[in-house]
Amino acid sequence: MKREFRLAALAAMIAITGCTPGQKEEPLANDPNTITLADNRTIVTWIKDNQGDKLMPRELFPEASDSLVQALGVADGVPASMSAYLMHCDGQWVLFDTGLGADKGGQLLNALQAVGLTPDSIGYIYLTHFHGDHIGGMMQDGQALFTRAEVFACCHEYMAWMMEMPLEKTELQRKVMEAYRDRTHLFEWGDSLPNGILAIDAPGHTPGHTVFRKENLLIVGDLMHGFDLQLNHRYISCNYDMDKAQAAQSRNHIISIAHNEHLTICGMHLPAPAFFEVNPKK
Ligand SMILES: [Zn+2]
Repeated sequence: MKREFRLAALAAMIAITGCTPGQKEEPLANDPNTITLADNRTIVTWIKDNQGDKLMPRELFPEASDSLVQALGVADGVPASMSAYLMHCDGQWVLFDTGLGADKGGQLLNALQAVGLTPDSIGYIYLTHFHGDHIGGMMQDGQALFTRAEVFACCHEYMAWMMEMPLEKTELQRKVMEAYRDRTHLFEWGDSLPNGILAIDAPGHTPGHTVFRKENLLIVGDLMHGFDLQLNHRYISCNYDMDKAQAAQSRNHIISIAHNEHLTICGMHLPAPAFFEVNPKK
């Protein structure tokens, strides 16, 4: 109920402000699930796709010592979530990843409904990578759920899943890419994409894993599965990372950028509050 109230508050605010370019809005000061970016016209909302609480099992992080795990109080699991992010800017509704899919219990559609949106409202989808808990929500009954959205995916990710991995492990990925074939745009790292979004290389979790930057926000995808463990111990990878050494390098690189430039990060497996200032300006 509380969450629905917050989303309803966002919808009401957008209805009032209209989010027209250059127009200044008041951020929802008390809502940790929504932020207004530095341009003062972009609102980003955390969509919690999982139901209830989510803990990532300690066993997923074998490089973490028992003493560190004990000291951080995460022996029973590391607080996490499965998430997507909804952005509103200049009249466009944008999604970063789409969660697991309603048929598997994903909450994205319910969250969109709560702010008065339908899948047709979404104009753009940016994919951090192709795992099922990020692209599963793009399909419903074997069809493309988002009938209008232009989809942006990294060319390295696309190539890896379509050309390099075995057929039996890429069934969902192939279905999704086929369903959105006419609306998918493959980008290269470093490309500037529509809506003022920059694609940044962060491979390791998957070959084409991508971080997106918009203004002062980094949407870091699956850079961290155990935030409490990995933010300050970046060498610790997760067993879900396909190339652990590369994932650690990317984690270090991206968190360093966030630290040096005083950026806010959000990610698809971060626990609440969904937005985190790595190195707040004094
Ligand atoms: Zn994931």
